[in-house]
Amino acid sequence: MSIQIQQVSKSFGSYQALHSIDLTIKDGEFVAILGPSGCGKTTLLRILAGFEQPSSGNVLMDGKVVAGSGTLLPPEKRRIGMVFQSFALWPHMNVSEHVRFPIRTHKSTPPHIKNNEQNRIQEVLNMSGLSHLAERMPHELSGGQKQRVAIARAIAPQPSLLLMDEPLSSLDAMLRMDMRREIQQVHRNTKSAVVYVTHDQGEALAMADRIIVMKDGRIEQAGTPQEIYLRPETEFVARFVSKSNLVKGHWDADMFIPEGGTNIAWPGKHVANYFKSNGLYPVRPDEFHLQPSSEAGIMGEIANVQFQGKEFHYDIRSDTKRWEVISPLPFALNEQVSLSLSSVSGEGV
Ligand code: ATP
Repeated sequence: MSIQIQQVSKSFGSYQALHSIDLTIKDGEFVAILGPSGCGKTTLLRILAGFEQPSSGNVLMDGKVVAGSGTLLPPEKRRIGMVFQSFALWPHMNVSEHVRFPIRTHKSTPPHIKNNEQNRIQEVLNMSGLSHLAERMPHELSGGQKQRVAIARAIAPQPSLLLMDEPLSSLDAMLRMDMRREIQQVHRNTKSAVVYVTHDQGEALAMADRIIVMKDGRIEQAGTPQEIYLRPETEFVARFVSKSNLVKGHWDADMFIPEGGTNIAWPGKHVANYFKSNGLYPVRPDEFHLQPSSEAGIMGEIANVQFQGKEFHYDIRSDTKRWEVISPLPFALNEQVSLSLSSVSGEGV
């Protein structure tokens, strides 16, 4: 299913939660809506689901207006599946019944699935690794298993669009990593378009074909994970997605001379115009190269160290600034160091 969101705004009383959103989602595409709490992600998802009516603008699915002035197609007629953060399982139904329910009751379930209900239940349980748990009740399942049931229930009637609202945020860190893989697998198997809401940039970068970064009800930047991560176009995206340090300095065409640096100039053809016109250079923590105090670089002192296995996370104090740096090299607390740019990884993108 292809989706067009055209100039969609949404107000709750005097508060405007969405400002004129324009977005097209291709059939089968995995789109992550990424942004901090309150930026309007869930509101946009609820409009796609049909739980909210836009205050203005239109939503089209496969070219047909499903929401707009005077039109609101209800959720059960939209061929969508939804997965929520809270799982929202039904306590009185076992796993198999969770999968059966939408197949039977959704008005949009295709007839070939409705007529082969038992086969479809088996297929979905297999796909979700739940066959051996078919008879279990929700209270007999672990968190990860419950989330798999929620996903199985959503995909059972073969929706053309799968809407996921922070589906992994109630799981522990290890399980979240495993479930990312499973959601990618579900996307490959079902070929449905996926709209995945999250505030976790790692999840968005790992799974999505395209990331839509939102701030204060507006789209801040849209692009592939590589574009968003390597070539942020605004200060907000640089900080929120790649935790970049914003180095102040002077641009001379495509060369950057950092303020407070000694004998250094950084190439920055790839750096977005916003930063060039504001005398800034975004540097990700892993882009800084740390070396013992030398003749060239931005001088600083190690203010904090955290060992993370294959790398160290440093806070570096230099004059009035603090930098976040990730480096495989060990340095001691209070050691004097110099910072330079280890690579210009965005240049080729
Ligand atoms: P979170 O990650 O915390 O869920 P979000 O990005 O999903 O945040 P939304 O839930 O879309 O944000 O909310 C966007 C803004 O709209 C918030 O300021 C919220 O308080 C407001 N809002 C959402 N729903 C309503 C409502 N029914 N009535 C009034 N205000 C609302």
